[in-house]
Amino acid sequence: MINVQIIPILRDNYTYLIRSENGLTAIIDPGEANPVIDVLEAQGLTLDYILNTHHHGDHTDGNTALKGKYNAQIVAPAKEARAIKDVDIALHEGDRFEFGDDSAHIIETPGHTAGGICFYFKQSGIVFTGDTLFSLGCGRLFEGTAQDMFASFQKLRALPDDTKVYCGHEYTRGNAGFCLSQDRENPALKARIEQVKDLRANNQPTLPTTIELEKETNIFMKAKSAEEFSALRQKKDSF
Ligand code: ZN
Ligand code: FE
Repeated sequence: MINVQIIPILRDNYTYLIRSENGLTAIIDPGEANPVIDVLEAQGLTLDYILNTHHHGDHTDGNTALKGKYNAQIVAPAKEARAIKDVDIALHEGDRFEFGDDSAHIIETPGHTAGGICFYFKQSGIVFTGDTLFSLGCGRLFEGTAQDMFASFQKLRALPDDTKVYCGHEYTRGNAGFCLSQDRENPALKARIEQVKDLRANNQPTLPTTIELEKETNIFMKAKSAEEFSALRQKKDSF
């Protein structure tokens, strides 16, 4: 099993420090370096890998400083390797990234960007979804189509229900209103919103969520077709 520590950065991003049982460390989507360095130093750790889900600055701007300080290897989507500096390991759909006892299965999830990936640690039952699947939401379509994003969501839907989901931003509270507007009588959604309000009132992350909870509560996970998904995405843009 990998161990996950949530590190809040920037305005509403999360970067995740993961450790394998045999002591390897990796950081997912470091949008800045200093909060990561603080956590590593407080725990007497160094950094072996930097994992990027996609090329946006709020997920990669800490790469260079962390690589420079720890000589960590940058692991990134092959299709975005030119948009990310100094990539050491470029990964495609179906590739595996070995990490101690576990390995991340690479799932290409275009939509938010053209070549973004999710890291699915199968043994641990954990997926890092970047800006593709959010709790109660989905990423904006900057480089891909709704069709692309729908297909990416289908890949994530196919993961085991109990898979823990760690996404790139704390957007859950903001996303809740749109889901509720489209799905007024869903008791699971209402219960989730109450839980989210409590967590945020105590400044706690609303993550991880699970694939099962998202299937029950996230309106984008409920879409049955690319057309339905596209209509939802358009409504959300002007909500
Ligand atoms: Zn992004
Ligand atoms: Fe982002």
